[in-house]
Amino acid sequence: MPTRTEQNAAVDERGSARERGYGAQWDRASALFRLHHPICKGCEAVGLATATEVTDHVEPHKGDHDRFWNAAMWQPACRWHHDVIKQKLEVMFAKGTIVVADLWLDSQAAVRLTLAELPVDVGVGGGRKSSDPSQGPAL
Ligand SMILES: [Zn+2]
Repeated sequence: MPTRTEQNAAVDERGSARERGYGAQWDRASALFRLHHPICKGCEAVGLATATEVTDHVEPHKGDHDRFWNAAMWQPACRWHHDVIKQKLEVMFAKGTIVVADLWLDSQAAVRLTLAELPVDVGVGGGRKSSDPSQGPAL
């Protein structure tokens, strides 16, 4: 049984996510998107094959309904790319250092960040082609 604190935390998390537009409809759309895009775009750009874990909004939607549901601006991402690389890109985007096109995980800006932050050495011209998609680059 979860403790009272854990229960409250879970409810809070669901509530805030739902406020930002992430409901059951998103869960279904996102699952379908990930099914069609099984490999992380950022990993693929540097020759890695990592399973998609997150449907990422290329441009931060900031609660904008049309932007949120514009599937042309969704990209498949592993947890690491979403949590580490994309966050850095979005900070740069907010500062005006990069443009929307650079928010794609296979953009030059993203690839440069990926190679700088990647905990494993992929070398030049590709690297580990993992046959086990559960192995993320962060491991
Ligand atoms: Zn990735």
